[in-house]
Amino acid sequence: MIGKGLVKGMSITLRRFFDRPNTVEYPEHKIPMTPRFRGGSLVLDSGRCIACGLCAMACPNAVIDLATETGEDKKKRLTAYHFHAGLCLFCNLCLEACPVQALSWSQDYEAACYRREGLSIDCLAAGQRGDTVG
Ligand code: SF4
Ligand code: SF4
Repeated sequence: MIGKGLVKGMSITLRRFFDRPNTVEYPEHKIPMTPRFRGGSLVLDSGRCIACGLCAMACPNAVIDLATETGEDKKKRLTAYHFHAGLCLFCNLCLEACPVQALSWSQDYEAACYRREGLSIDCLAAGQRGDTVG
């Protein structure tokens, strides 16, 4: 009886030994986030944005600071767009409020930083640089 149990146990061990690991060796290896991941930074597509301010109005925690100007063509455009990640609840209300789908989440889950100011992200500048993370 002991021998049977031992063989069964060893067979399970051997099977698990050759299985694909369930964990990765972070930070050398990183897993891609799922498309529905909420976190990191807001990514602003400034080419799409119509500077309506609905995202900032929808935010329950005043996380988004934006400023606009009206050009000679009478069109509003953004002059500043800051996302204060330290205050964000990741509720997604800003994305849902945007009528032109100009906002998305970055896939960056390594959001820790040493200084509080690092949590304030200039999404307009990041978008113009083509960054996807804050
Ligand atoms: S996810 Fe929620 S808390 Fe964060 S910026 Fe958007 S609306 Fe505000
Ligand atoms: S709701 Fe969308 S279009 Fe309006 S200011 Fe925010 S990001 Fe721009």
